[in-house]
Amino acid sequence: GKRAFIAGVADDNGYGWAIAKSLAAAGAEILVGTWVPALNIFESSLQRGKFDESRTLPDGSLMEITKVYPLDAVYDCPEDVPEDVKANKRYAGSSNWTVKEVAECVKQDFGSIDILVHSLANGPEVGKPILETSRNGYLAAISASSYSFVSLLKYFAPIMNPGTFLFLRHLLYPFSSSFKNIVKLSLVLISGGATISLSFIASERIMPGYGGGMSTAKAALESDTRMLAFEAGRKHQIRVNSISAGPLKSRAAKAIGS
Ligand code: NAD
Repeated sequence: GKRAFIAGVADDNGYGWAIAKSLAAAGAEILVGTWVPALNIFESSLQRGKFDESRTLPDGSLMEITKVYPLDAVYDCPEDVPEDVKANKRYAGSSNWTVKEVAECVKQDFGSIDILVHSLANGPEVGKPILETSRNGYLAAISASSYSFVSLLKYFAPIMNPGTFLFLRHLLYPFSSSFKNIVKLSLVLISGGATISLSFIASERIMPGYGGGMSTAKAALESDTRMLAFEAGRKHQIRVNSISAGPLKSRAAKAIGS
């Protein structure tokens, strides 16, 4: 079976949880990365059986989460963590939660993964129109919602199982017989590692209320998806995609205005 790491699961309301369930139903082993400040409540709710009903898979069994890793995807390595965060009680209570360390821990525990899901975003000023967004708020949105994917890919790609390139030869039949058949070759990457992130239509259309630089962050995420697919496809033989998801009443969405 495949092994999946889903970054951005802290309750049973969001996309990360739903994706984890679909992957579990398809037979994948599930590892999740949970934002450090939300870790205790998520783990205790899980243990107390609070999620048992929503953990139920189509065959009646319960989704098993093999391991929950604390994660803060705005920090790449311990040297990046400011003193006040290090000293914060919730952060000091866990360890190895920077992106690089989480990837190292997953490697130590399991060796490799097949699927990486980025289902996280944060925009501290999401409720403010972009015209009133501070530089810090804007950069924080990009850091948590866009660069976090670049960083995850950077550190997880080396432990993802590579796929193989396949040449597909298409014959394009012209309508008129006076044309010669045109042969088209395309290179596709099949099986092996797959990564995905979740975007939102506000990246390309005006969505009042999706402020604080979050629209910018999703545009960056989509642009990065193209570049990263090109780079990581060649370097690591893994696929990179993004899905523009519809509106869902998750915890994160509640912070967004009308
Ligand atoms: P969610 O609250 O379930 O997921 C967001 C998660 O990100 C939370 O678990 C939160 O703890 C985590 N997180 C925040 N900052 C983090 C950090 N620095 N490090 C690690 N984790 C962090 O909400 P959701 O709406 O399911 O969001 C998942 C993804 O789907 C996001 O990228 C979101 O933008 C996207 N999306 C959501 C909607 C929607 O309507 N809900 C629509 C389109 C796209």
